[in-house]
Amino acid sequence: MVHRFDALILGAGAAGLMCAMEAGKRGRRVAVLERSDRPGKKILISGGGRCNFTNLHCRPENFLSANPHFAKSALARYTPTDFLALVEKHQIPYHEKTLGQLFCDRSASDILNMLEKECRAVGVAIFLNTKIQVVTRTTEFVVRSANAEFHAPALVVATGGLSIPKIGATSFGYDLARQFGLKIRDPWPGLVPLVLEPEDRSHYCDLAGVSVEVVASCDGQKFREKMLVTHRGLSGPAILQVSSYWKKPQPVHIDLAPDQEVTAVFRDPKAPRTSSSLRAQLRRLLPSSLADRWLDLHMLNSWTNPALAAFERQVHEWTVTPAGTEGFDKAEVTAGGVDTDELAAKTMESRKVPGLFFIGEVVDVTGHLGGFNFQWAWASGAAAGQAL
Ligand SMILES: Cc1cc2nc3c(=O)[nH]c(=O)nc-3n(C[C@H](O)[C@H](O)[C@H](O)COP(=O)(O)OP(=O)(O)OC[C@H]3O[C@@H](n4cnc5c(N)ncnc54)[C@H](O)[C@@H]3O)c2cc1C
Repeated sequence: MVHRFDALILGAGAAGLMCAMEAGKRGRRVAVLERSDRPGKKILISGGGRCNFTNLHCRPENFLSANPHFAKSALARYTPTDFLALVEKHQIPYHEKTLGQLFCDRSASDILNMLEKECRAVGVAIFLNTKIQVVTRTTEFVVRSANAEFHAPALVVATGGLSIPKIGATSFGYDLARQFGLKIRDPWPGLVPLVLEPEDRSHYCDLAGVSVEVVASCDGQKFREKMLVTHRGLSGPAILQVSSYWKKPQPVHIDLAPDQEVTAVFRDPKAPRTSSSLRAQLRRLLPSSLADRWLDLHMLNSWTNPALAAFERQVHEWTVTPAGTEGFDKAEVTAGGVDTDELAAKTMESRKVPGLFFIGEVVDVTGHLGGFNFQWAWASGAAAGQAL
């Protein structure tokens, strides 16, 4: 069976649905082809089921890309306020959790229902269980699935990245880009827990569950948020943020007591210089199990001022060289992707192949933790949708 449309969108995730509704609003006849049995599965599991759907403080600096300027145009033309207006139009209750992060009060399904409703209102056709077998281009794009053929002059690739293969992530978008001669920046897992080397693991991982506010830094980027010890390494927002910048064998630096001085009390000549008083000071700043473990591993061998200063430095500059990350199975996002040099920043259209667009996570633009990845999906989806 042959279906003809003005535009075909591959992938009914955040970016694909936004693009479809924007194009539909402009009167385009749009089909979204989705291999899974339902749209927006990642939206449903996002933000712990509450979907951190945008961030009020979204700036270009919240994104990684080989070209840090590329995302600016799309982000400026579709802002968090634009998405919020849509959320409010649908009377979806939401709240700001922290640092400008907006979450649904009820459930992430509110966001998915809203996008589906908007798509229905403008006549977007969504084809589920549609596994694409071949894409070709003659005078127009032809997409073949097992039992249908779709024709359109424009094709938008919104098939996401490699993170969480168990809910359907594939390399499809990258393969298609390569098929059409577009360059790819090798993808790597972002916003992902770090795994420690065996020795560090044996020192710290029995403390799994312990959490503390730190400043974690890597590759010139710093994040002050919580760190969590896990059974295999380190996680929590601060670590997830630096993980996107981490490449083996770089070290990660962790300030365990930001803006605090553990040894200040010892400036008083009357203060007893003993391990129990040092333990008491460290326990003021760190969870006691972590403070005790730190002292077991870093106990001073003298009580001189230089030894105290060295101890202080270590607390603020814990240098960890991770063995690796938990990989795409646990990564919240895929960094790298379709090289932005290949795309027009205003429309997301390929410079080499007119009518071919790439949006969302498949593009080499990756947000920090905190609603930025959805904001990129909305903004890049809207940019392409308005150009179709
Ligand atoms: C656990 C988790 C929690 C997250 N929480 C947040 C959060 O709270 N806030 C935030 O901003 N970001 C969050 N993210 C990141 C965010 O979900 C993604 O960045 C965003 O969904 C990317 O949108 P996308 O449309 O590009 O891709 P996706 O949402 O991944 O959609 C791609 C779609 O394409 C389909 N597809 C794949 N291959 C094919 C094919 N060959 N043919 C047809 N269809 C195909 C997939 O089934 C999928 O429906 C989270 C991610 C994870 C994994």
